[in-house]
Amino acid sequence: MRDDACVFCRIVAGEIPSDRVHEDDAVIAFRDLAPKAPVHVLVVPREHHRDVRDLTSRPELLAHVVEVARDVAAELADGEFRLIFNTGASAGQTVFHVHAHVLASGELAEGEM
Ligand code: 5GP
Ligand code: ZN
Repeated sequence: MRDDACVFCRIVAGEIPSDRVHEDDAVIAFRDLAPKAPVHVLVVPREHHRDVRDLTSRPELLAHVVEVARDVAAELADGEFRLIFNTGASAGQTVFHVHAHVLASGELAEGEM
């Protein structure tokens, strides 16, 4: 379940600090170290799975990742977002513990301030 060499397993365990914006029994969400957008959050299942292909065997967990992405974008931005799963090294995946990138503008919807 856990891979001691995996940086995201170590973040889940709290051994490496992260700027968490959400956590529950199944997933955590924290800000990317090198943000590519005003809001750049990674949604990460606590369980170690290599990539999103492996999550197709856990449809409830996959759906929950999407729900958390939705909630993060509603909380930190205007509710609209890009959701990216880099899957495999040639597709740009560098951390082999499944994670969804949530990228959003960070602007709150008009009237929310
Ligand atoms: P990938 O390229 O695997 O889809 O994305 C990995 C992401 O994890 C990158 O955007 C990278 O900036 C981020 N990242 C890697 N190590 C850490 C870390 O220790 N802390 C945080 N917050 N983000 C990390
Ligand atoms: Zn892991």
